[in-house]
Amino acid sequence: MNRVIMLGPPGAGKGTQSIIVCGKLGIPHISTGDILRQAVANKTELGLKAKGYMEEGKLVPDQLVIDLTRQRLTQEDCAQGFLLDGFPRTLDQAEALDRMLSELGAPITHVVDLKVEETVLLDRIRNRASEGRTDDKVEVAAERLKVYWAQTAPVSGHYRDAGTYQEVNGLGTVEEVTERVLKVLG
Ligand code: ADP
Repeated sequence: MNRVIMLGPPGAGKGTQSIIVCGKLGIPHISTGDILRQAVANKTELGLKAKGYMEEGKLVPDQLVIDLTRQRLTQEDCAQGFLLDGFPRTLDQAEALDRMLSELGAPITHVVDLKVEETVLLDRIRNRASEGRTDDKVEVAAERLKVYWAQTAPVSGHYRDAGTYQEVNGLGTVEEVTERVLKVLG
């Protein structure tokens, strides 16, 4: 059983690795960023609430993402495992997740923390900006990195002492990193 949290800064390759790994393991890929972007595109109530924060590179309020994650995790396909990508992003989200999963009797089995140096992150994000993601504009990307260090990096500390936590080197080819992640997941 794999119930996985994929941690790491913007540009670390969480999204890319998450998609590949979920395909190989046959578990749902739950990306709060994807769910929120879809909500914005569809102009749903959630999307309208989230849009401004996302465009500025800020975090969407905890309660919104906690509620959407709870809804997603209680869907049937998550009973055989899942991978969370982009959640939890604050300590409050991590604590809410712990409570939610203990209610469901489905604790996290692996926390994968993708490690990439900051200079590489900025290069990668600049490249993505040229592919048209509006929150990857250089100024917004810099803000997202700032938010990461202030609010999300402490989430690693929340899991570090648990036996489930593993750091993975995010440098190298996509295939090399995938291999490392799969090894950690067993
Ligand atoms: P990244 O490229 O950093 O992995 P994501 O696609 O995960 O970015 O998220 C894009 C944006 O969606 C974030 O900058 C933030 O505004 C919002 N978002 C996604 N997940 C969360 C979350 N767990 N808490 C708050 N905001 C979130």
